[in-house]
Amino acid sequence: MIVKRKCAACGEIKDRSEFIKITRVCDNGEIVIEPDSNTFGRSVYLCKNENCIKGAFKKDRIFKVLKTKRNDSLQNKILETLEN
Ligand SMILES: [Zn+2]
Repeated sequence: MIVKRKCAACGEIKDRSEFIKITRVCDNGEIVIEPDSNTFGRSVYLCKNENCIKGAFKKDRIFKVLKTKRNDSLQNKILETLEN
């Protein structure tokens, strides 16, 4: 089964595999990039490109969607995943 997701920045709908998933874990509030399938929480999906990642951080949008407080290192951590 192909799961479709929507980018939180540009709104494009694509296959799950084309996105980076970021989850706020419901147990402890921790923000996890590409969590394993046992991790439950509020999630956002972003295209694997710099524009969408940076776009999600404009006006702290990603933090509002995740309902978490601002975390200045998160953007760099997500950008680092592009290099892998
Ligand atoms: Zn996008």
